[in-house]
Amino acid sequence: MPETKAAAPLEIYRILPRNNCGKCLLPSCLAFAAAVAAGQKKLCDCPDISPALLAKMAGICRKPVASEIEQAGFVDKLQRRVTALDLAAIAPVIGAVYRDNGLVVNSLGKDFIVDARGNLNSECHLIPWVQIPLLAYITNKTHGEITGSWISFREIKGGIDWQGLFTSRCETPLRKLADANPALLEDLIDLFMGQAIDWYQADIALILHPLPHIPILICYQAPEEDMESALTIFFDRCCGQNLHIKAIFTLCSGLVQMFTKIAERHLFS
Ligand code: SF4
Repeated sequence: MPETKAAAPLEIYRILPRNNCGKCLLPSCLAFAAAVAAGQKKLCDCPDISPALLAKMAGICRKPVASEIEQAGFVDKLQRRVTALDLAAIAPVIGAVYRDNGLVVNSLGKDFIVDARGNLNSECHLIPWVQIPLLAYITNKTHGEITGSWISFREIKGGIDWQGLFTSRCETPLRKLADANPALLEDLIDLFMGQAIDWYQADIALILHPLPHIPILICYQAPEEDMESALTIFFDRCCGQNLHIKAIFTLCSGLVQMFTKIAERHLFS
């Protein structure tokens, strides 16, 4: 490994053994990844990375951006909180399953496994938009059951402060995406185990579960003659109890980015 041009923390983290053994004298692999990215550690300070991987990593080095370092530090903080939890006790409370010493948490029909150290594994590609909200969900101080009562984003505690960003990063881009891809929302039902509903007056309304006790309701009205389309995302009343507003925003903006990528790959008919 050429000594270190820094890479992005999550790029580094992905190639680490992720066993948080502490041999690098840091508490976790994520802390180590952040330290390498910040130029405070060298990749070869982890004795468990093979020479082949070190060489491979040299080819993808780039300067980290501040937000990536901050993100890695935040994940590290959440992972420490997970280590203090009784996973078996918390599983039924948050709608997860305790299996093989880990929590199995379903997101959009896919299982994510969180071990006692807060490491996340899945058959899916792990991406930050799910990692941070999922760890925040598990470690949230309060948990409530799904109520079946729907509220707008601004009605969630703290939502008014985030409403502008939520509209510009979540609802507006998703509306434009649905305008450009008329089959998008229906396809989401199949792709992500969504549920179509008919009791909301809209061209299409569907419920998705990005986390077990975080149901969201997407309602879309297609454009008509002089009328612009409309799209609103509602939340079960329990969401504010189960996740901080910032994490709800991160979750939704990440979802919209993922839907955009899927649409760009022309998966929708
Ligand atoms: S030595 Fe390597 S595997 Fe162990 S905690 Fe540090 S980075 Fe992770």
